[in-house]
Amino acid sequence: MLSVIEPMTSTHARDMSFMDSLRKGDFSRSVLRAALLVRDEGQQELFALARQRRSECFPAEEVEARSVVEISNVCQQGCHYCSMAKGSGIKRYVMKPEAVVEMADFLYQRGRRVMLLQSGENQSKAWIEACTKIVSEMKQNHPDQELILCLGNLSEAQYVKLKEAGADRYILKFESSVKRLYEMWKPTDTMEERLRCLKMLVDIGFKTGSGNMVGMPGQTIDDIIDDLICMGEFDLTMNSCTVFIPGEACGYRDEPIGDVDFAFNLMALMRIMFPNRLMPTTSCLERCRPGGQFIGLMAGANTVTIHDGTPENYKAMFPIYSTKRFAPGNDHLLDAVANAKMTISTHPLQ
Ligand code: SAM
Repeated sequence: MLSVIEPMTSTHARDMSFMDSLRKGDFSRSVLRAALLVRDEGQQELFALARQRRSECFPAEEVEARSVVEISNVCQQGCHYCSMAKGSGIKRYVMKPEAVVEMADFLYQRGRRVMLLQSGENQSKAWIEACTKIVSEMKQNHPDQELILCLGNLSEAQYVKLKEAGADRYILKFESSVKRLYEMWKPTDTMEERLRCLKMLVDIGFKTGSGNMVGMPGQTIDDIIDDLICMGEFDLTMNSCTVFIPGEACGYRDEPIGDVDFAFNLMALMRIMFPNRLMPTTSCLERCRPGGQFIGLMAGANTVTIHDGTPENYKAMFPIYSTKRFAPGNDHLLDAVANAKMTISTHPLQ
């Protein structure tokens, strides 16, 4: 299978005219292609423009810190890249609503004002009722705790229920905007359905985030350019990308790891094209390259996820990237933020 890696030619290395185009807001395909391929000093120039755009929209130079609680790994989808896919053989768990609410309370007392609740995709009535109960109790206890959900494709009625219970934001990555790839990677779903869900979330009034994966089997640079264009077609408040990591329990375990430099350049482009959106520097960047989360901040990111909400006994059962999961400690993240000359905000940035 093709991977995203394309050899750099000397033209890519020398011709920096695409930077002027980016500065002027010219986001044509040839400009985006040159920006995705640039490395070394040229890449630093790209990152500097991304930071400039971030400073214009977020002059306080803050990084939104959110705590994640991985509330269940039960999943109805069979995505080849995911170690929690239906049939992957891992042990399943569902956190009790009281335990999630207690955890959110504990983190609130310690100053955290942004919480992310994440799970596998499960449209069962009982599960959505449990999630609704969690959301409404969390919001009753602490109305100023910003609540982000990442629970996958649900029905319109289920999204409305969660919004009415008090959820503020929802993250639903489209993963790939290219039908051929989406349906190859996620054979139990369709791209139309994913994009329909994304549109519903925006229309219902969630502050909505979306994004893609980079370095996936069969993906080319043109496919990533299509993803960038797709991000502009939705009224989003958050963007993100992950780099493909072949987890030991996923269908794509024998495929090569993605090239993290494409992710850094894509992040810089997301910041330049959509400057006022929030964007995370994810732990997979660190896993691909030591110091990767710092580089993500230098490429324009302004959120970090702190892995202090999932109880220890469940952490290994939520292997997004790998069963040998890399969850950077707080000190490491604080250093990355300080090195990027930014400060952590426990309060929502939107
Ligand atoms: N079930 C939810 C959904 O469908 O949106 C949550 C999905 S998963 C827990 C969170 C994200 O991890 C996915 O949207 C995907 O982009 C990313 N991801 C999963 N496996 C990955 C892998 N092997 N490498 C990189 N990113 C991965």
